[in-house]
Amino acid sequence: MTPKAIQAVINHLAELPGIGPRQAARIAFHLLKLPKHTVERLASDIITLKEKIKVCPICLAGFEEEHDSKTCAICADTKRVKTTICVVERESDIDPIEKTGVYKGTYHVVGENVDVPEKEAQQSIKQLLERIAYIQKQLPKEKQKNMEVVLAMNATVEGDALALYLEKLIRPLGISVHRLGRGLASGAELEYADQQTLINALENRK
Ligand SMILES: [Zn+2]
Repeated sequence: MTPKAIQAVINHLAELPGIGPRQAARIAFHLLKLPKHTVERLASDIITLKEKIKVCPICLAGFEEEHDSKTCAICADTKRVKTTICVVERESDIDPIEKTGVYKGTYHVVGENVDVPEKEAQQSIKQLLERIAYIQKQLPKEKQKNMEVVLAMNATVEGDALALYLEKLIRPLGISVHRLGRGLASGAELEYADQQTLINALENRK
């Protein structure tokens, strides 16, 4: 019988993405062996994360609130092309794209498993469509078609399904929609794609 205190930690960990019950147990027993101060640091860093990180109301990515900033640094940056939106499944997909240095637009995080009627994910798509409509309204008619949405879903079955779903919603709006995942090998997750592959996928998206 696993002691209650350990089982409680296992249950919490098993709810995290990508962690099954066996891995959760491994981590819990590993935590037990660590020095007390290390575990305390981990716990306090997790609390700090929740306190300091706010969700950007425009792109839905997390950001650290500084100098009364209301949005993330990318949305606040006037040099970023606001008429180009790269849609990603996970927030962790933004970093590898940023590291390529070739993408100058903005982002939108829709969340994973959107094909499952999941409230939060649906809300993120609603916000994306509202954001597109808002930008379109500010553009003169002849420039509206220059607006671009890049669907940077993972090249997985779920990513493909989500990209198709989004494409169906966005294409009728009369703006360009490109799929980035086609440049990736089948099954590839953006987060783990090597930089050159990502650069090629970004540059060849047209
Ligand atoms: Zn933002």
